[in-house]
Amino acid sequence: GKYVKSDIEIAQETTMKPINQIGEKLGLTTDDLEHFGKYKAKLTAETLKRVEEKENGKLILVTAINPTPAGEGKSTVTVGLGDALSLLGKKSMIAMREPSLGPTMGIKGGATGGGYSQVVPMEDINLHFTGDIHAITTANNALSALIDNHIQQGNDLEIDQRRIIWKRVMDLNDRALRNVIVGLGGPAQGIPREDGFDITVASEVMAVLCLAKDLGDLKNRLGKMIIAYNRNKQPVTVADLGAEGALTLLLKEAIKPNLVQTLAHTPALIHGGPFANIAHGCNSVIATNTALKLADYVVTEAGFGADLGAEKFLHIKARNMGVSPDAVVIVATIRALKMHGGVAKENLASENTAALANGFANLKKHVETVQSFGLPYVIALNRFNGDSTDEIATFKELCEEQNMQWSLTEVWAEGGTGGLELAEKVLEQIAKTDHSFTPLYNLHDSLVEKIETIAKNVYGASGVEFTPLAKKQLADFERFGWSHLPICMAKTQYSLSDDATKLGLPSDFTITIRELKPSVGAGFIVALTGAVMTMPGLPKVPAAMQMDVDKHGQAKGLF
Ligand code: ADP
Repeated sequence: GKYVKSDIEIAQETTMKPINQIGEKLGLTTDDLEHFGKYKAKLTAETLKRVEEKENGKLILVTAINPTPAGEGKSTVTVGLGDALSLLGKKSMIAMREPSLGPTMGIKGGATGGGYSQVVPMEDINLHFTGDIHAITTANNALSALIDNHIQQGNDLEIDQRRIIWKRVMDLNDRALRNVIVGLGGPAQGIPREDGFDITVASEVMAVLCLAKDLGDLKNRLGKMIIAYNRNKQPVTVADLGAEGALTLLLKEAIKPNLVQTLAHTPALIHGGPFANIAHGCNSVIATNTALKLADYVVTEAGFGADLGAEKFLHIKARNMGVSPDAVVIVATIRALKMHGGVAKENLASENTAALANGFANLKKHVETVQSFGLPYVIALNRFNGDSTDEIATFKELCEEQNMQWSLTEVWAEGGTGGLELAEKVLEQIAKTDHSFTPLYNLHDSLVEKIETIAKNVYGASGVEFTPLAKKQLADFERFGWSHLPICMAKTQYSLSDDATKLGLPSDFTITIRELKPSVGAGFIVALTGAVMTMPGLPKVPAAMQMDVDKHGQAKGLF
């Protein structure tokens, strides 16, 4: 067959524009930018402040069906749609998450889009970028060090060493660090206790950075984070320890959004990257808000399927920002729908219209979810080379039968040109004014009611079961005054249920809430279902094994 260029080959062939020229498209001058080399810049604090008074542009949220492990092309469509809107003469911008090194070194699949719809410089963005994630790691671990030191120095707060919930983090997949014992070696080395590592992008500091409106809000939220319980089983916060000033200081640069460009030079803000299965899964509020001030159309992405990313975007981030999307794009692929229709992974290359029709129920459920929030949508069928003409015709029929808005999207192969129809259809939906965003639950509903609403309405579950531990935590959390917080569900991305093997549209299932975690600083309660991990492991053959760098410093094998 035809040789298909890899993402990195395409990215490296492109001539980027100096970042000043990208800023100029948005009315920004050199003074608005803090340069990280020629092609990356942070926006200054003054610039963020200055644009605050401007009117908001329109917000387009990109979400998807339940994905396969390879990803269904949400980032690719996000970038391609941004470029398509630019081609239509719209002042458009993209707001996306920063990639985590865990998945980058682990499973093949970038976080900067793919094919001819990518953000660049892709190797920088996928590696250390502007150091935001390092700053978050450092802030998190500075707090761990301060907690252990507080105990070593006399423990005035009477922290119960067995009830410290604050963990250390690092931005890698490293299963060997999930459970560790710290403080071994005698009296001078601290007090021995059980600890563990999470991946940085699952940390509350990451979530806090992504939800904070400004530096003051960041400090306030950091102060509210719960680190442990004391001997009377009362929560102990960062503010009790007096560490919020230092943590905010460590994050004062990381809070500024990063400006880069697409292959077609559309401006993109890439900032913050919380996981979508265990955290809320979207880029920072500051980046989205700033993009809305600088551009007329902003395309942004929420992680995984609409059951996880979009639900949390709408219930947590949108509520927090006070801004809701004007339209939603739901990405689907023929191969994932065939998998939802019962085809095994190794047979996905063969044509199978019957399985496609069967798996379509998964897409339909996500469409209904988006509609239940009162939002208009367009389905983007992300076309793969292997999709047959008959399969695409079947998809079209299924959409037409259900009166669903859709567009065949070829942005991976063609860049923005392959997304012009999608862009036009999205603009049509935005122009309609007969819709209004309605959250599915109210903040004053009880924690149980909120969890049940999500499980029943978004997942299609018949009910929710709580383990004895979760029940006890619910009672405690109510007592501590945390009932008003929204829920951040932690669930597998592969299924609408909490069982990764139940594909398609599962029915007659219950969701089991195993444990709850207070993220009071971020402003949500995490409800953990199934076996969701807060520190992933590496696969048998990690993507890292393909990576190299040539003698000129050029990256190789990074996708
Ligand atoms: P998601 O954001 O849904 O995880 P991505 O946009 O990151 O998905 O895409 C995952 C991978 O799939 C990337 O390596 C990308 O190049 C590839 N990909 C996306 N769309 C297509 C397509 N239409 N054809 C071939 N490969 C694609």
